[in-house]
Amino acid sequence: MSSAEVSGASRAQVDAGAVRRVRLASLTTLKVGGEAELWTVEDDTGLRAATGEPFYVLGAGSNLLVSDEGVPARVLRLGRAYAALDALDGRRDLWLGAATPVPGLVRRAQRLGLSGLEGLLGVPAQLGGAVVMNAGTRFGCLADTLHEVEVMLDGSLERLSAHALGLRYRHSELPAGAVVTRVRLQLTASTPARVQALMDQVDAARKGQPKVKSAGCAFKNPPGDSAGRLIDAAGCKGLRVGDAMISPEHANFVVNLGAATTADVLALLALVQQRVDQPLELEWRRWGLPGGDAPQPGWQRTERDAV
Ligand SMILES: Cc1cc2nc3c(=O)[nH]c(=O)nc-3n(C[C@H](O)[C@H](O)[C@H](O)COP(=O)(O)OP(=O)(O)OC[C@H]3O[C@@H](n4cnc5c(N)ncnc54)[C@H](O)[C@@H]3O)c2cc1C
Repeated sequence: MSSAEVSGASRAQVDAGAVRRVRLASLTTLKVGGEAELWTVEDDTGLRAATGEPFYVLGAGSNLLVSDEGVPARVLRLGRAYAALDALDGRRDLWLGAATPVPGLVRRAQRLGLSGLEGLLGVPAQLGGAVVMNAGTRFGCLADTLHEVEVMLDGSLERLSAHALGLRYRHSELPAGAVVTRVRLQLTASTPARVQALMDQVDAARKGQPKVKSAGCAFKNPPGDSAGRLIDAAGCKGLRVGDAMISPEHANFVVNLGAATTADVLALLALVQQRVDQPLELEWRRWGLPGGDAPQPGWQRTERDAV
Protein backbone atom coordinates (compact mmCIF):
# COMPACT_ATOMS: atom_id res chain seq x y z
CA MET A 1 0.00 0.00 0.00
CA SER A 2 1.36 3.45 -0.82
CA SER A 3 0.98 6.36 1.60
CA ALA A 4 -1.13 8.06 -1.09
CA GLU A 5 -3.81 5.39 -0.56
CA VAL A 6 -4.06 6.20 3.13
CA SER A 7 -5.64 9.44 4.22
CA GLY A 8 -3.25 11.57 6.23
CA ALA A 9 -0.73 8.82 7.02
CA SER A 10 2.98 9.49 6.57
CA ARG A 11 5.26 7.27 4.49
CA ALA A 12 7.03 6.28 7.74
CA GLN A 13 3.75 5.17 9.37
CA VAL A 14 2.89 3.02 6.36
CA ASP A 15 6.39 1.56 6.14
CA ALA A 16 6.39 0.73 9.88
CA GLY A 17 3.02 -1.03 9.54
CA ALA A 18 1.35 1.44 11.93
CA VAL A 19 -1.17 2.23 9.17
CA ARG A 20 -2.32 -0.53 6.83
CA ARG A 21 -5.40 -1.90 5.12
CA VAL A 22 -6.85 -4.97 6.81
CA ARG A 23 -9.99 -7.08 6.63
CA LEU A 24 -11.77 -6.38 9.89
CA ALA A 25 -12.95 -10.00 9.88
CA SER A 26 -9.44 -10.83 11.12
CA LEU A 27 -9.88 -8.52 14.13
CA THR A 28 -13.44 -9.36 15.24
CA THR A 29 -14.45 -12.45 17.17
CA LEU A 30 -17.37 -13.20 14.81
CA LYS A 31 -14.86 -13.17 11.92
CA VAL A 32 -16.96 -11.12 9.53
CA GLY A 33 -16.45 -7.61 8.15
CA GLY A 34 -14.74 -5.97 5.19
CA GLU A 35 -11.68 -3.79 4.72
CA ALA A 36 -10.64 -0.65 6.51
CA GLU A 37 -7.59 1.45 7.19
CA LEU A 38 -6.17 0.31 10.54
CA TRP A 39 -4.15 2.80 12.58
CA THR A 40 -2.28 1.25 15.50
CA VAL A 41 -1.30 3.97 17.96
CA GLU A 42 1.41 3.52 20.56
CA ASP A 43 1.31 6.80 22.48
CA ASP A 44 -0.84 9.82 23.23
CA THR A 45 0.90 11.98 20.61
CA GLY A 46 0.13 9.39 17.93
CA LEU A 47 -3.43 9.05 19.20
CA ARG A 48 -3.94 12.81 19.12
CA ALA A 49 -2.83 12.89 15.48
CA ALA A 50 -4.91 9.84 14.52
CA THR A 51 -8.10 11.29 16.03
CA GLY A 52 -7.85 14.45 13.93
CA GLU A 53 -10.04 12.96 11.21
CA PRO A 54 -13.24 10.85 11.59
CA PHE A 55 -12.51 7.44 13.07
CA TYR A 56 -13.82 4.29 14.72
CA VAL A 57 -12.14 2.73 17.78
CA LEU A 58 -11.56 -0.99 17.90
CA GLY A 59 -11.10 -2.87 21.15
CA ALA A 60 -10.96 -6.67 21.11
CA GLY A 61 -13.71 -6.69 18.44
CA SER A 62 -15.91 -8.96 20.57
CA ASN A 63 -19.13 -6.96 20.32
CA LEU A 64 -18.96 -5.78 16.73
CA LEU A 65 -20.74 -6.40 13.46
CA VAL A 66 -18.97 -4.69 10.56
CA SER A 67 -20.33 -4.30 7.02
CA ASP A 68 -18.95 -6.68 4.37
CA GLU A 69 -17.97 -3.49 2.52
CA GLY A 70 -15.84 -2.34 5.45
CA VAL A 71 -15.94 1.25 6.71
CA PRO A 72 -14.91 4.46 4.98
CA ALA A 73 -13.20 5.97 8.07
CA ARG A 74 -9.92 5.04 9.73
CA VAL A 75 -10.12 2.41 12.48
CA LEU A 76 -7.91 3.09 15.51
CA ARG A 77 -6.47 0.42 17.71
CA LEU A 78 -4.54 1.13 20.91
CA GLY A 79 -1.17 -0.62 20.84
CA ARG A 80 0.77 -2.52 23.48
CA ALA A 81 1.75 0.62 25.37
CA TYR A 82 -1.91 0.87 26.45
CA ALA A 83 -2.07 -2.72 27.70
CA ALA A 84 -0.29 -2.26 31.00
CA LEU A 85 -1.22 -5.36 32.96
CA ASP A 86 2.00 -4.94 34.94
CA ALA A 87 0.44 -2.01 36.78
CA LEU A 88 -1.75 -4.49 38.67
CA ASP A 89 0.62 -5.08 41.58
CA GLY A 90 -1.56 -5.48 44.64
CA ARG A 91 -2.79 -1.92 45.03
CA ARG A 92 -6.56 -1.62 45.24
CA ASP A 93 -6.83 1.76 43.51
CA LEU A 94 -5.14 1.59 40.15
CA TRP A 95 -4.92 3.03 36.64
CA LEU A 96 -4.74 0.56 33.75
CA GLY A 97 -4.32 1.06 30.00
CA ALA A 98 -7.54 0.79 27.99
CA ALA A 99 -6.10 -1.97 25.77
CA THR A 100 -5.52 -4.23 28.79
CA PRO A 101 -7.14 -7.60 28.05
CA VAL A 102 -9.95 -8.23 30.54
CA PRO A 103 -9.42 -12.03 30.80
CA GLY A 104 -5.80 -11.58 31.98
CA LEU A 105 -6.85 -8.79 34.33
CA VAL A 106 -9.53 -10.96 35.98
CA ARG A 107 -7.03 -13.82 36.48
CA ARG A 108 -4.34 -11.49 37.85
CA ALA A 109 -6.77 -9.87 40.30
CA GLN A 110 -7.73 -13.33 41.59
CA ARG A 111 -4.10 -14.28 42.20
CA LEU A 112 -3.58 -11.02 44.12
CA GLY A 113 -6.74 -11.54 46.18
CA LEU A 114 -8.42 -8.43 44.73
CA SER A 115 -12.19 -8.61 44.37
CA GLY A 116 -14.64 -6.74 42.11
CA LEU A 117 -13.94 -8.10 38.64
CA GLU A 118 -15.29 -11.64 39.07
CA GLY A 119 -18.48 -10.88 37.09
CA LEU A 120 -16.31 -10.18 34.03
CA LEU A 121 -14.92 -13.73 33.94
CA GLY A 122 -15.22 -15.03 30.38
CA VAL A 123 -15.74 -11.60 28.75
CA PRO A 124 -13.11 -11.45 25.97
CA ALA A 125 -12.90 -7.64 25.95
CA GLN A 126 -10.28 -4.97 26.31
CA LEU A 127 -10.79 -2.68 29.27
CA GLY A 128 -11.82 0.31 27.08
CA GLY A 129 -14.45 -1.78 25.27
CA ALA A 130 -15.66 -3.13 28.61
CA VAL A 131 -16.19 0.47 29.82
CA VAL A 132 -18.09 1.46 26.68
CA MET A 133 -20.38 -1.58 26.92
CA ASN A 134 -20.41 -1.64 30.74
CA ALA A 135 -19.69 -5.32 30.25
CA GLY A 136 -20.61 -7.90 32.84
CA THR A 137 -22.95 -10.62 33.91
CA ARG A 138 -25.62 -10.95 36.56
CA PHE A 139 -22.72 -11.41 39.00
CA GLY A 140 -21.38 -7.91 38.41
CA CYS A 141 -20.36 -5.40 35.77
CA LEU A 142 -17.54 -2.98 35.13
CA ALA A 143 -19.44 -0.08 36.70
CA ASP A 144 -19.04 -1.82 40.09
CA THR A 145 -15.32 -1.03 40.18
CA LEU A 146 -14.94 1.89 37.78
CA HIS A 147 -13.92 5.16 39.41
CA GLU A 148 -12.90 7.35 36.47
CA VAL A 149 -11.49 7.21 32.95
CA GLU A 150 -8.97 9.22 31.00
CA VAL A 151 -10.04 9.98 27.43
CA MET A 152 -8.52 11.63 24.39
CA LEU A 153 -11.18 14.13 23.39
CA ASP A 154 -10.86 16.89 20.79
CA GLY A 155 -7.08 16.45 20.78
CA SER A 156 -6.57 16.67 24.58
CA LEU A 157 -6.47 14.24 27.49
CA GLU A 158 -9.31 14.67 29.98
CA ARG A 159 -10.58 12.81 33.01
CA LEU A 160 -14.24 11.85 33.37
CA SER A 161 -15.79 10.38 36.51
CA ALA A 162 -17.63 7.06 36.20
CA HIS A 163 -20.74 8.96 37.23
CA ALA A 164 -20.46 11.20 34.13
CA LEU A 165 -20.49 8.14 31.86
CA GLY A 166 -24.14 7.24 32.53
CA LEU A 167 -23.32 3.55 32.83
CA ARG A 168 -26.23 1.14 32.86
CA TYR A 169 -27.03 -2.27 31.40
CA ARG A 170 -24.66 -2.63 28.38
CA HIS A 171 -24.71 1.14 27.88
CA SER A 172 -22.51 4.18 28.40
CA GLU A 173 -22.67 7.81 27.34
CA LEU A 174 -19.11 8.61 26.38
CA PRO A 175 -18.86 12.04 24.67
CA ALA A 176 -18.73 11.89 20.85
CA GLY A 177 -15.13 11.69 19.67
CA ALA A 178 -13.73 10.32 22.96
CA VAL A 179 -11.23 7.46 23.04
CA VAL A 180 -10.75 5.81 26.43
CA THR A 181 -7.00 5.70 27.06
CA ARG A 182 -6.74 4.73 30.74
CA VAL A 183 -9.16 3.39 33.31
CA ARG A 184 -9.11 3.82 37.09
CA LEU A 185 -10.53 0.88 39.02
CA GLN A 186 -11.10 0.53 42.74
CA LEU A 187 -10.96 -3.10 43.82
CA THR A 188 -11.64 -4.59 47.25
CA ALA A 189 -9.15 -6.50 49.37
CA SER A 190 -10.09 -10.18 49.64
CA THR A 191 -8.20 -13.46 49.37
CA PRO A 192 -7.35 -15.52 46.28
CA ALA A 193 -9.57 -18.36 47.58
CA ARG A 194 -12.62 -16.13 48.10
CA VAL A 195 -12.23 -14.49 44.69
CA GLN A 196 -11.84 -17.91 43.09
CA ALA A 197 -15.03 -19.14 44.79
CA LEU A 198 -16.98 -16.25 43.19
CA MET A 199 -15.34 -16.92 39.84
CA ASP A 200 -16.36 -20.58 40.06
CA GLN A 201 -20.00 -19.46 40.37
CA VAL A 202 -19.68 -17.25 37.28
CA ASP A 203 -17.94 -20.03 35.41
CA ALA A 204 -20.69 -22.51 36.29
CA ALA A 205 -23.33 -20.07 35.00
CA ARG A 206 -21.44 -19.72 31.70
CA LYS A 207 -21.38 -23.46 31.04
CA GLY A 208 -23.35 -24.20 27.90
CA GLN A 209 -22.19 -21.10 26.07
CA PRO A 210 -20.83 -21.98 22.62
CA LYS A 211 -17.05 -22.12 22.29
CA VAL A 212 -17.05 -21.37 18.54
CA LYS A 213 -16.70 -18.00 16.75
CA SER A 214 -19.34 -15.54 17.97
CA ALA A 215 -19.73 -12.00 19.28
CA GLY A 216 -21.44 -12.97 22.53
CA CYS A 217 -25.10 -12.17 23.00
CA ALA A 218 -26.62 -10.56 19.91
CA PHE A 219 -29.61 -8.92 21.63
CA LYS A 220 -30.03 -7.13 24.94
CA ASN A 221 -32.35 -8.73 27.45
CA PRO A 222 -35.71 -6.94 27.56
CA PRO A 223 -36.63 -5.74 31.08
CA GLY A 224 -37.57 -8.72 33.24
CA ASP A 225 -36.95 -11.31 30.53
CA SER A 226 -34.14 -12.96 28.61
CA ALA A 227 -33.59 -12.52 24.88
CA GLY A 228 -32.21 -16.08 24.74
CA ARG A 229 -35.40 -17.45 26.29
CA LEU A 230 -37.60 -15.57 23.80
CA ILE A 231 -35.53 -16.67 20.79
CA ASP A 232 -35.49 -20.27 22.00
CA ALA A 233 -39.26 -20.19 22.61
CA ALA A 234 -39.72 -18.95 19.02
CA GLY A 235 -37.97 -22.12 17.81
CA CYS A 236 -34.91 -20.36 16.41
CA LYS A 237 -32.11 -22.58 17.77
CA GLY A 238 -30.22 -24.05 14.83
CA LEU A 239 -31.78 -21.56 12.36
CA ARG A 240 -29.20 -20.89 9.65
CA VAL A 241 -28.46 -18.49 6.80
CA GLY A 242 -25.29 -19.48 4.95
CA ASP A 243 -22.69 -20.19 7.62
CA ALA A 244 -24.38 -17.98 10.24
CA MET A 245 -26.39 -20.01 12.72
CA ILE A 246 -28.34 -19.45 15.93
CA SER A 247 -26.38 -21.56 18.35
CA PRO A 248 -28.16 -24.77 19.35
CA GLU A 249 -26.55 -24.31 22.79
CA HIS A 250 -27.48 -20.67 23.50
CA ALA A 251 -30.24 -19.02 21.46
CA ASN A 252 -28.86 -15.47 21.89
CA PHE A 253 -25.52 -16.41 20.29
CA VAL A 254 -25.03 -16.22 16.52
CA VAL A 255 -22.13 -18.48 15.56
CA ASN A 256 -20.01 -18.40 12.43
CA LEU A 257 -19.60 -21.94 11.14
CA GLY A 258 -16.72 -20.87 8.90
CA ALA A 259 -17.58 -18.74 5.90
CA ALA A 260 -20.42 -16.54 7.18
CA THR A 261 -20.69 -12.99 5.87
CA THR A 262 -22.23 -9.97 7.55
CA ALA A 263 -25.07 -10.18 5.01
CA ASP A 264 -25.79 -13.74 6.26
CA VAL A 265 -25.77 -12.56 9.86
CA LEU A 266 -28.13 -9.67 9.12
CA ALA A 267 -30.54 -11.96 7.24
CA LEU A 268 -30.48 -14.38 10.18
CA LEU A 269 -31.16 -11.59 12.70
CA ALA A 270 -34.10 -10.43 10.55
CA LEU A 271 -35.54 -13.97 10.56
CA VAL A 272 -35.21 -14.16 14.34
CA GLN A 273 -36.91 -10.81 14.73
CA GLN A 274 -39.79 -11.99 12.48
CA ARG A 275 -40.32 -15.06 14.66
CA VAL A 276 -40.04 -13.39 18.07
CA ASP A 277 -43.24 -11.46 18.64
CA GLN A 278 -41.69 -8.51 20.46
CA PRO A 279 -38.99 -6.09 19.27
CA LEU A 280 -35.49 -6.97 20.43
CA GLU A 281 -32.67 -4.43 20.68
CA LEU A 282 -29.28 -5.44 19.31
CA GLU A 283 -26.47 -5.44 21.88
CA TRP A 284 -23.78 -5.50 19.17
CA ARG A 285 -22.30 -2.26 17.93
CA ARG A 286 -22.61 -1.99 14.17
CA TRP A 287 -20.22 -0.21 11.81
CA GLY A 288 -21.08 0.74 8.22
CA LEU A 289 -24.61 -0.67 8.64
CA PRO A 290 -28.07 0.94 8.76
CA GLY A 291 -28.92 2.05 12.28
CA GLY A 292 -25.32 1.52 13.37
CA ASP A 293 -22.63 3.87 14.69
CA ALA A 294 -21.44 6.77 12.56
CA PRO A 295 -17.68 7.38 12.70
CA GLN A 296 -16.53 9.49 15.64
CA PRO A 297 -15.96 13.10 14.62
CA GLY A 298 -12.27 13.99 14.24
CA TRP A 299 -11.21 17.09 16.17
CA GLN A 300 -9.70 18.80 13.11
CA ARG A 301 -12.96 18.26 11.22
CA THR A 302 -14.93 19.60 14.19
CA GLU A 303 -12.75 22.72 14.35
CA ARG A 304 -13.16 23.33 10.61
CA ASP A 305 -16.96 22.97 10.96
CA ALA A 306 -16.95 25.56 13.75
CA VAL A 307 -15.26 28.20 11.58
C1 LIG B 1 -17.67 -15.48 23.71
C2 LIG B 1 -18.14 -14.10 24.15
C3 LIG B 1 -18.72 -13.96 25.39
C4 LIG B 1 -19.17 -12.69 25.81
N1 LIG B 1 -19.72 -12.58 27.05
C5 LIG B 1 -20.12 -11.36 27.49
C6 LIG B 1 -20.67 -11.20 28.80
O1 LIG B 1 -20.80 -12.14 29.56
N2 LIG B 1 -21.03 -9.95 29.18
C7 LIG B 1 -20.90 -8.86 28.38
O2 LIG B 1 -21.21 -7.73 28.79
N3 LIG B 1 -20.38 -8.98 27.12
C8 LIG B 1 -19.99 -10.20 26.66
N4 LIG B 1 -19.48 -10.33 25.40
C9 LIG B 1 -19.46 -9.16 24.51
C10 LIG B 1 -18.16 -8.31 24.55
O3 LIG B 1 -17.06 -9.06 25.04
C11 LIG B 1 -18.36 -7.05 25.39
O4 LIG B 1 -19.39 -6.23 24.88
C12 LIG B 1 -17.07 -6.20 25.48
O5 LIG B 1 -17.27 -5.16 26.39
C13 LIG B 1 -16.61 -5.62 24.15
O6 LIG B 1 -15.30 -5.14 24.35
P1 LIG B 1 -14.25 -5.04 23.16
O7 LIG B 1 -12.95 -4.57 23.71
O8 LIG B 1 -14.22 -6.30 22.38
O9 LIG B 1 -14.90 -3.87 22.30
P2 LIG B 1 -15.23 -3.85 20.74
O10 LIG B 1 -16.20 -4.95 20.42
O11 LIG B 1 -13.98 -3.78 19.96
O12 LIG B 1 -16.00 -2.45 20.64
C14 LIG B 1 -17.25 -2.27 21.29
C15 LIG B 1 -17.54 -0.77 21.35
O13 LIG B 1 -16.60 -0.14 22.22
C16 LIG B 1 -15.91 0.90 21.54
N5 LIG B 1 -14.54 0.95 22.07
C17 LIG B 1 -13.69 -0.08 22.27
N6 LIG B 1 -12.55 0.36 22.85
C18 LIG B 1 -12.70 1.70 23.02
C19 LIG B 1 -11.87 2.72 23.57
N7 LIG B 1 -10.66 2.47 24.05
N8 LIG B 1 -12.35 3.99 23.58
C20 LIG B 1 -13.57 4.29 23.08
N9 LIG B 1 -14.40 3.35 22.54
C21 LIG B 1 -13.95 2.07 22.52
C22 LIG B 1 -15.97 0.51 20.08
O14 LIG B 1 -15.80 1.65 19.24
C23 LIG B 1 -17.36 -0.08 20.00
O15 LIG B 1 -18.34 0.94 19.91
C24 LIG B 1 -19.03 -11.56 24.96
C25 LIG B 1 -18.43 -11.73 23.70
C26 LIG B 1 -17.99 -12.98 23.29
C27 LIG B 1 -17.34 -13.13 21.93
